[in-house]
Amino acid sequence: MYGMSFTEDDLAETLRKILAGDHPGVRLGPGDDAALLEPSRHLNVLTVDMLVEGVDFERGTTTPRDLGYKAVAVNVSDVAAMGGSPRFGVVALGLPAGFEPGWVIELYSGLREAADEYAMAIVGGDLSLADQVVLSVTVTGEVPDGGAVTRSGARPGDRIVVTGALGAAAGGLRLLQAPAQSVAHAMGSAWARELVAAQSRPTARVGEGRTLARCGATAMIDVSDGLTRDLWRICRAGGVGAAVSLDAVPVAEAVERLGEVMPVEPLVLALEGGEDFELLATMAPDAVEGAAKDLQERFGTRLTDIGEIREGHGLVAVGSAGSERPLEPRGWDHFGS
Ligand SMILES: [Mg+2]
Repeated sequence: MYGMSFTEDDLAETLRKILAGDHPGVRLGPGDDAALLEPSRHLNVLTVDMLVEGVDFERGTTTPRDLGYKAVAVNVSDVAAMGGSPRFGVVALGLPAGFEPGWVIELYSGLREAADEYAMAIVGGDLSLADQVVLSVTVTGEVPDGGAVTRSGARPGDRIVVTGALGAAAGGLRLLQAPAQSVAHAMGSAWARELVAAQSRPTARVGEGRTLARCGATAMIDVSDGLTRDLWRICRAGGVGAAVSLDAVPVAEAVERLGEVMPVEPLVLALEGGEDFELLATMAPDAVEGAAKDLQERFGTRLTDIGEIREGHGLVAVGSAGSERPLEPRGWDHFGS
């Protein structure tokens, strides 16, 4: 199934070695029928994310190592968005027949790299045949009882805040998908490398999520499918509306540079481009300043106030002169056209 000289057991043994090591809380790691893990005294967080070739990624625009890294990071981001910390993961991988073992080994190396980055352990995996590459990672985490932040707690009068800057991951995808010669002159530049890295090596905001939870965030979500779509999810879950000040939305500087070489609207990428994995939260107005100071001091991460939660439903965009217009929750929709 994986070529003449490399049996499934050989490959499984190699992959096991990539994941091996001593990890806190792991009594028995990969290699047996199941892993044995010590329980946490906190609440368990459990999440899964599936990456499907042709839907969530293309093999032509990602390396297997980046794909493995990202598959872990996006799950860790979901744990972070609850105010939790990641602990363990398991991975299920479907591969087309005749697959290169080296590709799988690289992918597992990326999984391991991200697991190390976020101080978690991948304790098991499974391989099977599929028509295209399907990579599903499940991650557990922990959060103090009473310390989790859900999507549904936003209340009228809350401020809307977002970590970091937006649009870079979508900008990176545009660069990777562009005809090579049309962007060749830009690819060596620092800003282009930054955009590609944002797309292929996203950062999950674990410490920031815990800090925002402690600072009194009333609702939180990670920006996976675009700011407007994810904010709309917070509004729908809380039965509230939101007003976003367009001038306040933090657009990644590298995206402004992209706008000089490609027909892209930086603000639109920031509002609708997905996969930035920044944290979007709501909190009482008097909590914002302290939270921003904490994030800056502890992580060097910016926190930007971009608007307010209102009664009602739906999103409005507030222009520089104070004019308001409806803001459509556009962004990545897996089932959309
Ligand atoms: Mg999420």
